[in-house]
Amino acid sequence: MGSTDKAVITGFICRLCSKMNRFVIHIYGEEGSRMKLAEKINTYLPITVNAYDQLPKTACLHCIERLEAHHELMEQFSFARRKLSSNDRQTSISATSTTSSNIDTTAATNSPPPC
Ligand SMILES: [Zn+2]
Repeated sequence: MGSTDKAVITGFICRLCSKMNRFVIHIYGEEGSRMKLAEKINTYLPITVNAYDQLPKTACLHCIERLEAHHELMEQFSFARRKLSSNDRQTSISATSTTSSNIDTTAATNSPPPC
């Protein structure tokens, strides 16, 4: 078939932004697996990657950076949610004051006497 002039650009197409990039990480490569790229992409992004699909398996560093930042943000949110919901449970437990289970945050069940 017709050979295109630009066929020999050194680089890979990023799966996420579809741009040609010289510095990419293979999603299913050693580093990609360590970073759990496929898992993060499938969790957070509106696309699905699969080791057996026909599309590029590379992602550029810029996209990965943003994916990682997003992951951190999501971790923060879920941490905050867990924290808030456990605080909520502790308050309701201490309000009924039945069982004294391990409450590790010192969230003042004994309120200090008023001055
Ligand atoms: Zn990209």
